[in-house]
Amino acid sequence: MVSPASPPVVRFAPSPTGLLHVGNIRAALFNWLYAKQQGGTFILRLDDTDRARSRAEFEQGIERDLAWLGLDWDRKEKQSDRLAHYDAARDRLIAAGRLYPCYETPEELEFKRKRLLAQGRPPVYDRAALKLSDDDRRRLEGEGRRPHWRFKLIAEEVRWDDMVRGAQHVDEASQSDPVLVRADGTYLYSFTSVVDDIAFAITHVIRGEDHVTNTGAQIQMFQALEAAVPVFAHLPLLVDAAGGGLSKRTGSLSIADLRERGIEALAISALLARLGTADAVEPVASLDTLVASMDFARVGRASARFSEDELAQLSARTLHMLPYATVKERLAGMASDLGEAFWLAIRGNIATLGDAKDWATVVSGPISPVLEDSAFLAEAAALLPADPWDETSWKAWTSAVTSATGRKGRQLFHPLRLALTAQEKGPEMAKLLPLIGRARVEARLGGRTA
Ligand code: GLU
Repeated sequence: MVSPASPPVVRFAPSPTGLLHVGNIRAALFNWLYAKQQGGTFILRLDDTDRARSRAEFEQGIERDLAWLGLDWDRKEKQSDRLAHYDAARDRLIAAGRLYPCYETPEELEFKRKRLLAQGRPPVYDRAALKLSDDDRRRLEGEGRRPHWRFKLIAEEVRWDDMVRGAQHVDEASQSDPVLVRADGTYLYSFTSVVDDIAFAITHVIRGEDHVTNTGAQIQMFQALEAAVPVFAHLPLLVDAAGGGLSKRTGSLSIADLRERGIEALAISALLARLGTADAVEPVASLDTLVASMDFARVGRASARFSEDELAQLSARTLHMLPYATVKERLAGMASDLGEAFWLAIRGNIATLGDAKDWATVVSGPISPVLEDSAFLAEAAALLPADPWDETSWKAWTSAVTSATGRKGRQLFHPLRLALTAQEKGPEMAKLLPLIGRARVEARLGGRTA
């Protein structure tokens, strides 16, 4: 075991064969949070050995999504640059008698499997290839067969203490020897991952529960390569409201798509860090809050239910609490940075940051006012308080209008809001009035576009 006192080295290892979605970003987030909390190192490893399916655009997409979420990496590695290391590790396993060539075709393997099942026995590979003589192998290769290579498991119970799942054990005697090298010489992920975890001195493997089944064999691979076995943490999978897997719908739940829809990056992290844990899901103003509170012991073992509605609501609630400094640059990018008072006035009335643009237009124009009663509005205009205006001006003005006209409540406020904002609802008028300013207020009360 790796000493728990040393700072952790963790990795997020996506395959650049598609877009990141909420399911795989959850693994990235927990790795990153753990590294930050423990003063460790977070490595981005691109598992791109599948040359046919890996694409540069997905690699760029992964980097863009992680950067957008604020999950910065200390180091980046690509498996496609590391083939010589896999070859060397393969040769070590062969020399140690732990990797052996097999010649069965997929059809032959399927036949064996069915026969075992028909006999009511587990469909475990029978290791027939271990009994082949050199002559047998020469003959098979003479027929043009290329070997695939299996890792020879030790028939024992493998145990590990999972940071999420607690004490785990698998009986490797009941497992088939896994194929690590395909007949075309390419490697399976379960092997290259172990070689890299050793090379990069990974201390904690934090990943989705779908990899639990690989863990027993991988622990034996670490041992066969005489390396320290990392600590494992397997996160429960996310499911939708109906309890089904999310993978079928990953298109609509890709990080790129959520960004496009105006979902706040912080809301995605806040939801994924707390979903299925003992802690309440609530908006956060920075990732630091999540770093401080993350604790594998608080992650439940049941699948976590992900809801797009919950995410959208959390995203809005996140905006409602964000300080001006956090959004200033993005507002400027939308030509909607009208200062801190503007942001504090409108943040409670937006669902996405894009909505701020509409309120910026309400404040700085031009809008066409909606007039309910021009005579009343003209009377109100004559009662506008003297400059300068602040947040008390609205109260002073409307009190004066009440005294002069007898109007109160909706009769008073509704026509004024409609004329000044052209909207039925919105931020507090006391805050908007000084932002809109005298010139536009007078114009709008007079029915002019301003
Ligand atoms: N490339 C693997 C995946 O995306 C990595 C799994 C692991 O973290 O070990 O599923």
